Amino acid sequence: MSVPTIMLNDGREIPQLGFGVFQIDPTETAQAVKTALDLGYRHLDTAQMYGNEAETLQGVLDSGVPRGEVWITSKLNNGFHEPDEARQAIDDSVAKLGGPIDLYLIHWPLPTLYGGDFVSTWKVLEEARADGRLKSIGVSNFQVNHLQRLAQETTVVPAVNQIEVHPYFGNEAVRRYCGEHQIGVEAWSPIAQGKVLDDPTITDVARRLGKSPAQVVLRWHIERGDIVFPKSVTPSRMEENFSLFDFELAEEDLALISALDQGDAGRTGGHPDTMDYVPS
Ligand code: NDP
Repeated sequence: MSVPTIMLNDGREIPQLGFGVFQIDPTETAQAVKTALDLGYRHLDTAQMYGNEAETLQGVLDSGVPRGEVWITSKLNNGFHEPDEARQAIDDSVAKLGGPIDLYLIHWPLPTLYGGDFVSTWKVLEEARADGRLKSIGVSNFQVNHLQRLAQETTVVPAVNQIEVHPYFGNEAVRRYCGEHQIGVEAWSPIAQGKVLDDPTITDVARRLGKSPAQVVLRWHIERGDIVFPKSVTPSRMEENFSLFDFELAEEDLALISALDQGDAGRTGGHPDTMDYVPS
């Protein structure tokens, strides 16, 4: 099964479908990653905060798939926004992931911490891209005003913005801004951690097409042009989530699913304007 790629604004191509490892216990991560790679996934999404970067690399090594054939994304932890700490944290991620990182993100903008200064942090990612430690750089959970500030005060436009998106939370204003500024959208919690799978609109479409609710929702993301990396530790679900390229959704079905958007009430995760969690 061939996964399409999305061309980023720096000319690099990312597989549109990947595998997320948030909330996979470090002791189970290498096996889950190996299973995903055996099934054909070639894009992994980890983070310093998940505590499983080294185990993610171990899964790649165990799979026998050359490291160069796998796209790995990681993210700067919330405790390391101060520039010198960010430099060191990037070195730490590079060591754990076995060399230059395909894509590195500021995990959260944290506008209520560090004097609201995520600009200096972004400049450290720019430096690390320039010296080759990071191949592509981007952000996560940035609102429109955060992106506008980067555009005014820095030179490199983020390659992606990784944000919460699923049928109950379309995050449309941020998606629109990203679309207008050539910033790729990565949709996190693409099936809302399972919460959308019992929705009658989704189960109806799934029944009509002979697909699972998760496949219908993931296909909706793919057809909207977003990048997704569902997480599962269940091999049959990992396989199901990878089988998205032998069917399409009709315009009416895409519209029915998009109409489930509840705006901010549909969020399952923290709000980027107030998120201030710093792991101890
Ligand atoms: P997902 O929307 O991917 O949902 C994962 C949950 O759904 C798990 O409980 C899994 O169960 C279950 N599941 C997976 N596939 C199926 C299926 N086919 N049928 C039924 N249930 C299924 O949630 P995540 O929050 O993990 O998001 C995906 C990725 O996004 C993360 O792993 C991470 O990489 C990224 N992320 C980024 C954030 C950020 O701030 N930048 C925040 C949150 C996530 P089980 O494992 O038991 O099979």
